[in-house]
Amino acid sequence: MKISHIEHVGIAVPSLEDAIPFYENILGFKCFAIEEVEDQKVRTAFFKVGDTKIELLEGTSPESAISKFIEKNGGRGGIQHIAFAVEDGVANALAEVEEKGCKLIDKAPRRGAEGLNIAFLHPKSTVGTLIELCEDPNK
Ligand code: ZN
Repeated sequence: MKISHIEHVGIAVPSLEDAIPFYENILGFKCFAIEEVEDQKVRTAFFKVGDTKIELLEGTSPESAISKFIEKNGGRGGIQHIAFAVEDGVANALAEVEEKGCKLIDKAPRRGAEGLNIAFLHPKSTVGTLIELCEDPNK
C-alpha cells in the first residue's frame, strides 16, 4: 500500500452554518463544496489547504457518528478522523491492512463525499484514532 498524502482532516461541528464563518473569515479559506452524504447521515463542507482538505461534518440525525462524537465531547466539535489517500486502490489497501491484523469498520470500499472511494479502519486497531483510507476513482 502506498499512501501519497493526507487527503483530508475530518472535523465534527455542531452546525456547518456556525462553523464555516470561522474558516472563511478568520482563517481565510473558501468553502468550495457543501454536500450531504445520506448513508452516513452527515452534511459536509470542504476547504482546500494545499493538497489536503478540511472536511467539516455535521450530523443530520442523532444516530449519526458525528452527532454521537459531539455528544461525547460535551457538545463541542473537534477532530473526528484523518483520511489518507492511497494510490493503488482502497480494496487492495483494506486487504493488506487486514492481513496484517488490523480490524476494519468497512470490509469493502464505499462511496463518500466528493465521489471518493472510502473505508474506515477500526480505532481498536489504530491506537485510538479513526482512520479513513480513500481514493479518487477519477484520478
Ligand atoms: Zn472523511
